[in-house]
Amino acid sequence: MASSSGKVSDQRLVVTRFAPSPTGFLHIGNARTGLFSWLYARHLGGKALLRIEDTDKKRSTQEAIDVILEGLDWLGLEFDEEPVYQSERADRHAEVAMKLLENGQAYKCFASSEELAEMREQQKAKKQPLRYDGRWRDRDPSEAPEGAPFTIRIKTPEGGETVIEDAVQGRVKVDNREIDDFILLRADGTPTYMLAVVVDDMDMNCTHIIRGDDHLNNAFRQIQVIRAMQGIEDGWEEPTYAHVPLIHGNDGAKLSKRHGALGVRDYRDMGILPEALFNYLLRLGWGHGDQEEFSREEAIALFDINGVNKGPSRFDMKKLLSMNGNYIRAADDARLASLVAPLIGPDADQALLTKAMPELKTRARDLNELAEGASFLFKQRPLELTEKAASLLDDEAKQRLSAISERLQAETDWTIEALEASLKAYAEELELGLGKLAQPLRAALTGQTTSPGIFDVLVLLGREESLARINDQAGG
Ligand code: GLU
Repeated sequence: MASSSGKVSDQRLVVTRFAPSPTGFLHIGNARTGLFSWLYARHLGGKALLRIEDTDKKRSTQEAIDVILEGLDWLGLEFDEEPVYQSERADRHAEVAMKLLENGQAYKCFASSEELAEMREQQKAKKQPLRYDGRWRDRDPSEAPEGAPFTIRIKTPEGGETVIEDAVQGRVKVDNREIDDFILLRADGTPTYMLAVVVDDMDMNCTHIIRGDDHLNNAFRQIQVIRAMQGIEDGWEEPTYAHVPLIHGNDGAKLSKRHGALGVRDYRDMGILPEALFNYLLRLGWGHGDQEEFSREEAIALFDINGVNKGPSRFDMKKLLSMNGNYIRAADDARLASLVAPLIGPDADQALLTKAMPELKTRARDLNELAEGASFLFKQRPLELTEKAASLLDDEAKQRLSAISERLQAETDWTIEALEASLKAYAEELELGLGKLAQPLRAALTGQTTSPGIFDVLVLLGREESLARINDQAGG
């Protein structure tokens, strides 16, 4: 892939970065661009780096940072170096601003905020675009009052255009008149976001910037800093940009709270498996033929920026759940048991859960459903029946339960086959379908109207518990 100033040389190690801001949660849209960055580095045997953009002191609490780290860890995105904390690098950001100043690529602007507000008012009145008009660009600082506060602004090119060969968007360009001389360093000496991002990207030797397309406009500005620094320091090579379209909701609007959960943690709490979310986010905006599911290894082998769609993708909860169901069925039973046990409570026995898992997992679309489906195993007698289950146990059904109990007590071989043969024989005697017997039996054994196959239930509960539960409900 080419960047606007030429190719990233083949010899350079590919370095990507994920640069989330701690906002209190790890937005799934960000997680997706994080995943793409990570996969791209892994695909090319490069380095995947993480930078925490924690310059907003109010929001960037340790807790907010931990949510991000924990979410990435849960998704299995491990990075190749310790995270870089942007807030710790303010001195370096300021140093770059000062170098640009010394080299005539930036200048001091003494315009007061009142003056700038007035400038904007005038631009508004004339229906002009609102941008800094360069009023200090060619003035001598000696014209400013003694000790007046100043910002440092970059000198952006006055004519021509800036072109980006974006790996996702294709060729995008902007007229340089649209790029004003933006602030690098505020009057209090703190760096702006625009400066910090690009200095960090360069110091981390990033070759590829893969991020949401809401940052495309920033790229045109960040490139100005890179170009201005090229004659001043080594290592300021333009990276390849890949601006990935944002995720939209089912209605086509940008994904927001209104569409449902946004945080990776919310999906974990909904009982989504990390590999399912990984796969779903991968497929959201990236494809490889018709293939729907990819193992982590396959994803690494196949991922390429070329496969990223140009158009926005739509988040579809139903599809995620159905994919999650597939991953649940493919998951190791003991692992599922360990994930589900805490959702059931202290009575949940992992060994029994593991044994029951092949049956339990055939239906569930998320871990909470799995826990719900498994909870009958650990209920205390006498069972509390759901209303629907209770309605199945009329007098006739209760009598049949008594008869079933008698037959099963005589059963010495407590296996699916033997139990099935025994109940089938009874159903035939009554000239009833097996289902008619199974329904009340299920109600008595599980307290519910849905469960794994009835013979599995009998075997999983064991002879003693099964008979006790049946007898609790039997009558007549
Ligand atoms: N911190 C920015 C964000 O969370 C990302 C900056 C970047 O990727 O350049 O939106």
